[in-house]
Amino acid sequence: MISIKNVRKSFQTKQGTLTAVDNVNLEINEGEIFGVIGYSGAGKSTLIRMLNKLESPTEGSITIAGREISKIKGAELRKARQEISMIFQHFNLLWSRTVRENIAFPLEIAGVSGAERKRRVDELIKLVGLEGRESAYPSQLSGGQKQRVGIARALANNPKVLLCDEATSALDPQTTDSILELLVDINKRLGLTIVLITHEMHVIRKICHRVAVMENGGIVELGPVLDVFRNPKQPITKRFVQQVTEPEETKDTVEHLIKRYPTGSVIQLTFVGETVEQPLITNLVRNYAITANILQGKISQTQSGSYGSLFIHLDGPEQEVQNALEYIRSQQIGVEVIG
Ligand code: ADP
Repeated sequence: MISIKNVRKSFQTKQGTLTAVDNVNLEINEGEIFGVIGYSGAGKSTLIRMLNKLESPTEGSITIAGREISKIKGAELRKARQEISMIFQHFNLLWSRTVRENIAFPLEIAGVSGAERKRRVDELIKLVGLEGRESAYPSQLSGGQKQRVGIARALANNPKVLLCDEATSALDPQTTDSILELLVDINKRLGLTIVLITHEMHVIRKICHRVAVMENGGIVELGPVLDVFRNPKQPITKRFVQQVTEPEETKDTVEHLIKRYPTGSVIQLTFVGETVEQPLITNLVRNYAITANILQGKISQTQSGSYGSLFIHLDGPEQEVQNALEYIRSQQIGVEVIG
């Protein structure tokens, strides 16, 4: 179903070339639930974004359902995009629309007519177990229900592949289990190929058939989940396996990693132990003449706080950006300026 051949993805920064995905080769079978695990910065998101054509490989080729996706354009590209859907950690729902309207949205865009659209939405609501909540707005739903809307919306156009980007990382353990069960159910009923990325080994163990372990942009270990569990070869894989057998204690300290990239407008925050992102961004925008937008973020909630990595784009007059960075430093939050 998916064939990734010699794929490399590099980003140009002022300090030189940053290779996010390095010489990856992978075949994912039709109907498989395939997991990619790695720590923050390993290259998982970049890999999954290339499957979705949100990024293009610098080198190599990606073929999905017989189409080499880097070579197609126009109507063929639109069709290919319909065949690959994605669900997200923070659901990405339309907040001003009801459950029904959220699920109907991709069908509207695809030009599916009123009666057919209604029939299809009813079917999807039933499939994901949201009967009775059709008229609710996302803000009235629990995290698990929001992700059910995300899944129904992703399935609206009958995709062949479902990409899951840390889809359960924002959910509590019980809700995580129910969403994972739903994914297995969908995989069995619809024969859908599922590719999921995560930093949590219990997610892999629960539902994946095979797993690839990523480190520094490359795949360092690959195999059936049971084999990898019984006989992990790489040190990093052993650490992930230990996560499940001996859960790590959550650190309570805030650790902010500081790396430096060439130009001054995108910052990356990596943090452990405390929720920093929302108050930080609110204060930045309130106090400085800048805009601050999250480009890409991964935040995992634990009982003692959150951890993860965020890319935030700061834009505005140079002096204001500098003042904002000073403010972030004064909050003892690590700043990585990445260009
Ligand atoms: P993961 O999903 O495993 O956390 P990512 O794919 O997000 O990893 O990132 C891999 C590496 O690529 C990181 O070092 C990150 O800083 C870098 N990276 C990702 N996107 C960009 C970008 N648009 N520009 C520059 N560097 C990037």
